[in-house]
Amino acid sequence: MTAPVFRFAPSPNGALHLGHAYSALLNHDMARAAGGRFLLRIEDIDTERSTPAYEQAIYDDLTWLGIEWDHPVRRQSEHMDDYRSALDALIGEELAYPAFMSRGEMRAFVAEAEADGTPWPRDPDGVPLPPHVDRERGAAERQRLIADGVPYSWRLDITAATARAQSLPFWEETGSGPDGETGRIRADPAAWGDVMIARKDMPTSYHLAVVVDDALQDVTNVVRGRDLFHATSVHRLLQELLGLVPPVYHHHSLILDAEGRKLSKRFGDSGIGALRAAGMTPADIRRMVGLEPELR
Ligand code: GLU
Repeated sequence: MTAPVFRFAPSPNGALHLGHAYSALLNHDMARAAGGRFLLRIEDIDTERSTPAYEQAIYDDLTWLGIEWDHPVRRQSEHMDDYRSALDALIGEELAYPAFMSRGEMRAFVAEAEADGTPWPRDPDGVPLPPHVDRERGAAERQRLIADGVPYSWRLDITAATARAQSLPFWEETGSGPDGETGRIRADPAAWGDVMIARKDMPTSYHLAVVVDDALQDVTNVVRGRDLFHATSVHRLLQELLGLVPPVYHHHSLILDAEGRKLSKRFGDSGIGALRAAGMTPADIRRMVGLEPELR
């Protein structure tokens, strides 16, 4: 049997905070306990918000925490060709369509549909599902809009896609799903509607890149925050459509602030850099996130 492969995959669009430290340390501890490898992936497809300084801070913070990772680091911005091939495969199978509606147009459409008091369906993150306007356009209209230079993203036709891959399971290792789910879980990708698989400015979105990378990097164990539990349904569907081997999932609990809110990159005082500057040690950080002291 080959050694398990774990990964930590931060986005360099803000400073790492205690929640990231927990995720990175947990991944690292689990990889070590399993005699596996630990990879670091920089998820920097968001070119507007990602910066070299945040990326460098990730390396510095993880090194300070005592984390070592395999090289080379995979930086998503350098692998657009891999995502383009996966996207082309989905387009070739007629599972994806160009989506021209702007966010504002979608908001207006949903507001109008809700004007009579009927709530528009929402995805698991509470965002209104995209209307079917773009899905229903004919080939000639799509060609005209493209020729007119109207920008477009790509969305998965969730009806066509789920018809190809019915009753998809995924494996949740620890009962760490939001409701304590364990073992074989039934994925529910339809809850996301026609999910975006490529943004207007690039041949991928978070969902497509994460699935392609986990497969190309032979990741066997995805250990990440519970906030991504429902996204796993989309990932399982994409894996199935692209013929990729699924990893095992472990969605860990989130570190909350004193008011019980999920930490975000806006809360500067829980940033690793700020905690280090305040005199904390890596052992203090392990204690704060509830991890056992490191075994040497
Ligand atoms: N890049 C994502 C984030 O920073 C994590 C992706 C994942 O672990 O699947 O939230």
